[in-house]
Amino acid sequence: MLITTDGVVLKERAQGENDKFIDVLTSDMGVISICAKGARKLNSKNAGSTQLFSYSKLCFNQRSDKYYLNSSEIISSFFNISKDLNKLALASYFSELLRYCVPSDTPSQSILKLFLNTMYFLDNSKRSCGFLKSLFEFRLMCEIGLMPRLIGCCECYEYRSNSMFFDIINGRLFCDKCFSGEPDYNTVMITDSELHVLRYIALTEFDRLYSFKVTESLEKSVGIITEKYVLAHFDRNFNTLNYYKSLV
Ligand SMILES: [Zn+2]
Repeated sequence: MLITTDGVVLKERAQGENDKFIDVLTSDMGVISICAKGARKLNSKNAGSTQLFSYSKLCFNQRSDKYYLNSSEIISSFFNISKDLNKLALASYFSELLRYCVPSDTPSQSILKLFLNTMYFLDNSKRSCGFLKSLFEFRLMCEIGLMPRLIGCCECYEYRSNSMFFDIINGRLFCDKCFSGEPDYNTVMITDSELHVLRYIALTEFDRLYSFKVTESLEKSVGIITEKYVLAHFDRNFNTLNYYKSLV
């Protein structure tokens, strides 16, 4: 069976002398692994389109439960990302997240759109790495069905109070009247501005998602929350995240 779809290469793994496997986030089939025979030869017609972070149109065969690349055509290559160590590290972290949380055989148009747009802004330096990291982390969690309840306090529905508390593990808010106990590592006090940014990332329509502005300090404090949210819900560490953080 011949299948055609578009997708971004998230990882390359060498196989033998000339072949490689690529993990690809596709629009129709989630993250899948495709064997690209001969693609590591310099003169291969599939060399560019199967490189890390290439966004390509891919045509491949399915034999039993494996996919074999037939032909491909590059759509976009995000060339600047591979020339900048911070950007490359951040994009690698995004890739590791996607490979971890997007199963195969699931339509993933909105996740692919989120990744492509984030990569576009990263490639063109149109937004800072910190801004894009928070946005991608938090919106991705929402897209895969792990959106926290951010509308108001989970007990009295208060939309805002002097101070709100965000229970990261259970994805819920408390107002200062309903919150009992002490803030801890995963239950953090959250300012109005931080909450506003999280609501914006989670709920705004896609076309306006990248258009908000934040101060540097707000970008930093929101980043701490979105990263905790990812790590708490996946309950694991990501080597690519540790590497990115060692650079910035
Ligand atoms: Zn309350």
